[in-house]
Amino acid sequence: WRVGKNIMCGIFGYGGKELKPASFILNGLKTLEYRGYDSWGIVVISDKEFRRERHVGKIGEAKTILPAAVMGMGHTRWATHGGVTVKNSHPHFDCGKRFAVVHNGIIENEGELRKSLTKKGHKLLSETDTELIVHLLEEEAKDNSKLMFLDLARRLVNKLQGAFAIGIMDLKQPGELILARFGGPLVVGMTAGYKLFAS
Ligand code: GLU
Repeated sequence: WRVGKNIMCGIFGYGGKELKPASFILNGLKTLEYRGYDSWGIVVISDKEFRRERHVGKIGEAKTILPAAVMGMGHTRWATHGGVTVKNSHPHFDCGKRFAVVHNGIIENEGELRKSLTKKGHKLLSETDTELIVHLLEEEAKDNSKLMFLDLARRLVNKLQGAFAIGIMDLKQPGELILARFGGPLVVGMTAGYKLFAS
């Protein structure tokens, strides 16, 4: 990916009255699958915990086993950093499992960020540039414990270089989902009963 070039892979999210957002999201991902089909994954918050499902390969006729929730987000991957494995599939979590992220694009200062996060003791479980996003956010939360999710996310985005569309969820603010984009497509739809986003 580069700004101005074709952008691949897909993210899709849903929040609203539908009790099984995961199946809704899965259908959304299917429509985006032509953009990336290395692996796919979905996360929802249920009973104050993240529940995540990740698989390598095409979605095909897959059904999701995730529980009822008020919102969630999913990803179909076109790998740029790290092989096609379940570990590298999105969504990714930080060490404390407070934040979840889905991401389209490339974080170009990945090398530098990985070094500094590793030095600070973060346990990185994947080879992706994406995972660094939530660990960076975790650092922001540590350094600025009074800031709300939106302010933390604003600080985070200033540290990212490259082209991206990201969705982030915070277990501490389970009714909120933050979106950010730079150089990539992202659309949001809102109606009385629900909200949707897609890249
Ligand atoms: N760079 C990320 C990765 O390799 C995201 C790729 C994508 O946009 O699917 O996982």
